[in-house]
Amino acid sequence: MSPHRRLTGPLVIATHNPGKLAEMRELLAPYGIEAQSAGELGLAEPDETGTTFAANARIKAEAAMRATGKVAFADDSGLVVTALGGDPGIYSARWAGPNKDFRFAMNQIQTLLIEKSAKTPEQRRCHFVAALCLAWPDGHLEEFEGHVHGVAVWPPRGDAGFGYDPLFLPDGHSRTFGEMTALEKHGLPPHGMGLSHRARAFVMLADACLR
Ligand code: IMP
Repeated sequence: MSPHRRLTGPLVIATHNPGKLAEMRELLAPYGIEAQSAGELGLAEPDETGTTFAANARIKAEAAMRATGKVAFADDSGLVVTALGGDPGIYSARWAGPNKDFRFAMNQIQTLLIEKSAKTPEQRRCHFVAALCLAWPDGHLEEFEGHVHGVAVWPPRGDAGFGYDPLFLPDGHSRTFGEMTALEKHGLPPHGMGLSHRARAFVMLADACLR
């Protein structure tokens, strides 16, 4: 028997980020799982005090679960740039500042990469990480992590998606996430290729908890 727990009823999605909420809703829709978000419910955002993506996903899922008494789903994600010692990493959202200015954050990455003379694709390796956590009111947790590897290009390309998408060229592709449609970036098989970090983590979650 699978050690995983099946998810059946409605969910609370522990995010205040409209870009992520839209992606998560699209991912859950084929399974008939309806979801309200922490933002829509007016829940407070907990402090993300963890030192890993997984720890922060758990903090957010458990906070939303405790506030609502319902199963909660959270993701924590970010861009890890190898030559920058893993920055911005778990601070990916914070690098954009209070105005959520990702052009500024991408400029910051480029400035630091140039300071390190990182010009070739090999020197500009990076990957997105998505940690997912499902938290049930009885304390049961299900946790998954997806990665997608690529190169930080300059200048950023495309204005689809959100966050660092225009900077990120996934391995084996000629267009950045910012130049891809939503289906190309995070569509799941059989229609999409399950490319993004969140899609990859979600495939693991779906295999374990939704089928
Ligand atoms: P958090 O998971 O809400 O703490 O923030 C993650 C941050 O990482 C987002 O605000 C984005 O800046 C960035 N990020 C995560 N996933 C993606 C993605 O798929 N595309 C672009 N940026 C992303």
